[in-house]
Amino acid sequence: MLLGCIADDLTGATDLSLTLTQEGLRTVQCTGLPSPALDLTGIDALVIALKSRSIPAADAVSQSVAAAQSLRALGARQLLFKYCSTFDSTDEGNIGPVAEALLAIVGGGQTIACPAFPRAGRTIYAGQLFVNGVPLCESPMKDHPLNPMHDSDLRRVLGRQSRQAVGLIGFSDVAAGPDGIAKALAREAREGRPLSIVDALTDQHLRDIGAAIVNLPLVTGGSGIAMGLPAAYLAAGLIETLTPPPRTMTAPAGRAAILAGSCSAATRGQVAAAVEAGVPTFRLDAGQLADGHQSVTHVLDWVDQQAGPQPILIYSSADPDVVRDTQARLGRDAAGAMVEHAIADIALGLRQRGFTRLLVAGGETSGAVVQALGAQALAIGPEIDPGVPWTRTLDGVPMALALKSGNFGTPDFFLKAWSSLT
Ligand code: ADP
Repeated sequence: MLLGCIADDLTGATDLSLTLTQEGLRTVQCTGLPSPALDLTGIDALVIALKSRSIPAADAVSQSVAAAQSLRALGARQLLFKYCSTFDSTDEGNIGPVAEALLAIVGGGQTIACPAFPRAGRTIYAGQLFVNGVPLCESPMKDHPLNPMHDSDLRRVLGRQSRQAVGLIGFSDVAAGPDGIAKALAREAREGRPLSIVDALTDQHLRDIGAAIVNLPLVTGGSGIAMGLPAAYLAAGLIETLTPPPRTMTAPAGRAAILAGSCSAATRGQVAAAVEAGVPTFRLDAGQLADGHQSVTHVLDWVDQQAGPQPILIYSSADPDVVRDTQARLGRDAAGAMVEHAIADIALGLRQRGFTRLLVAGGETSGAVVQALGAQALAIGPEIDPGVPWTRTLDGVPMALALKSGNFGTPDFFLKAWSSLT
C-alpha cells in the first residue's frame, strides 16, 4: 500500500477517498481501525475515518497515533493526515498536536500543512486562508458552533497549537514549481521549522506541491493536498499505472431511500427539489419525536405503504428558526442526538425491509447511520458531485451508500444520484 490516510471526520474521509480515486488510486475507506479480516489486496490507499476533530487534543492524538501505527503495519509508505479545508481547530488543537505526534511516529523530519482546496473556494496566500475570496476570520467560519475561526493567518493559528516553529512556503516558492517548492522545503528544514504552511491558489499549485512532497513520510492538509500525489507516484515509478475512476457502480438489487438529517442550506434545497419532483416523502418533526407523536415505528409503517420502485425520502431538515426553537426546548446536543438515533434506527428498519441503496445527508447523520449498519469498510465508487461518491460496503450486508456532507451537492442531487448505479 502506498498511502495511509487518517481523516478527522467521516464525510471528510469520503471526500479524500474520492479525490484519490478520481486521480487514479484504488482506495478503500474504513471507519476506525481496519479489521484484520479486511482484504486489502490490490489497494493503493487506505483512508481511516476518525471522529477526532472536536474531541480533547490528547484523545485525538492517541486515536491518530493508533491509526498511523496500523497503517504503517499494513505497509503504508506515506501517511496523510486530513483535516477540514477551513482548518477547523482551536488553540488547544487538534491539528498541531496530531501533526507533531505523527511526525514523531515517522521518525521526525518535516511536514507541510496545506488545507487549500481551490475548487471549493479555499485558497492560501502569504499563509492567509481565504474562503471564497473572504479571509477565514470574516467568513461564516467565524460563527462555527464548535471551532469559530477568528484568525486567518495559518502560521499563527498552527503556531498556537504547536510546540515547534511554523514556517511558510509562500507564493513565490510555489509559483516556481516542484523544484522551487523542494528548495523551500530544504530552507525550512535548515532553519529549524519542521511544520510549514504552503500557499496554493490553483489545482496546478496542488499538483506541483504533490510532486515536491512525494518522498515526505508525512503530509497534512485538506483533501486537495491529495490531488497531486497519484501522478507524482507514477512519475516517481512507485506505481505502475493509475486506475481510471469508475463512472458507474453495480449496487445490490433492492429499494432506494434518502435519509436527510442535515439542516444546511444545500440539503434543504435538495429536499425541496425532491418534494417538488413528487418523491414520496415523510417529514420527521423533532418536536413531535420528542413528544412521542412521531416514532420510528410510524415512519416504518409509512415505508410499508410505499410499494413503488422509486426512491423515498425521509427528512428532519428544517429551517434555522425551527431548529433554534427545537434546540431551545430540548437542548442542542439532545435534539441532535435524538434525531440522529431516530434516523439510524430508520436505516436499520429499511435494511430489514430490503432497501439496499441509501443516500444520507449530513456528516453527523451519516456517522450515526454507518455505525448502526455496522458498515466499517467502504469501496469508493463514482462521483455524484464534488466531494460525494457512491460507496459499496465491503463487510456486513451488501449495500450502496452515499454519505453527503450537508452543504455539498447541486439542488437536484437527490434526483440525479441514482443514475450512476446499475
Ligand atoms: P451537516 O453536515 O449539515 O452539518 P449533520 O448531520 O452533521 O449535518 O448535523 C445536523 C445535526 O442537526 C444532527 O445532529 C441532526 O440530528 C440535527 N438535526 C436534524 N434535524 C433537526 C431538527 N429538525 N431540529 C434539531 N436538530 C436537528
